[in-house]
Amino acid sequence: MIARGVEKIVEFLFPPACPVCGAPVSIHGELCEDCFGCFDWIGRPKCVRCGYPLPPRADGVSKCPVCAMGECKLEWLRCACRYDDASREVMLPFKHGGRIKYAKFMSRAMIWALRDVPADCDIVMPVPLARRRLIHRTYNQATLLARPIARAMNRPLDVDSVRRCHRPDMGHMTPRQRKENIRGVFTVVHPERIRGRKILLVDDVYMSGATLGELRRVLLRAGAESVCGVAFCRVVRTV
Ligand SMILES: [Zn+2]
Ligand SMILES: [Zn+2]
Repeated sequence: MIARGVEKIVEFLFPPACPVCGAPVSIHGELCEDCFGCFDWIGRPKCVRCGYPLPPRADGVSKCPVCAMGECKLEWLRCACRYDDASREVMLPFKHGGRIKYAKFMSRAMIWALRDVPADCDIVMPVPLARRRLIHRTYNQATLLARPIARAMNRPLDVDSVRRCHRPDMGHMTPRQRKENIRGVFTVVHPERIRGRKILLVDDVYMSGATLGELRRVLLRAGAESVCGVAFCRVVRTV
């Protein structure tokens, strides 16, 4: 009774507002209709393995060209929307500007993106941030997204079995440079927690796949059974 009263007062003082534009909404942390409509959400049809959006008339085709050639490194991958102007506008302040209030709608969208894949992972693991970067930024944006996903899946969150060493930012690198730059940055420090486990990696954005690919490599070497991934948005190039 008292709790409900307090809730009402809080709602009166801080009515739910869209985290992006501030318009009134019915639930805390949700996007308003206009902001929701700005994102290019990935629906169907899409590649059964990597979730790459396929053309509307992809008759009988279930895999994108990359997966058809067997080049996808992950067991499967799902992303909520495309990386474009709208998602970039929330990604950058979320990652670098302390806008952690975006985590709620982003993680919800990622849980939605996971609706058609087997919910059989054992561990939810955010892509680790190098210690130096974590101290500077004060938070790991991938952990903010992974926590509600782990909760929704009722699986443990693992934030310390893998360590990352510091390397220059990959922002303006070519896919090849990214791959070379990321090689060897991750170290499994608790292999006993990894061995025989199915691991779901969580990141904010999927660009070239270099980061998740390298993490997968070290996790499999440490004995993981399988490695799959989920990100809020992904780069969609014409293939
Ligand atoms: Zn809005
Ligand atoms: Zn694919």
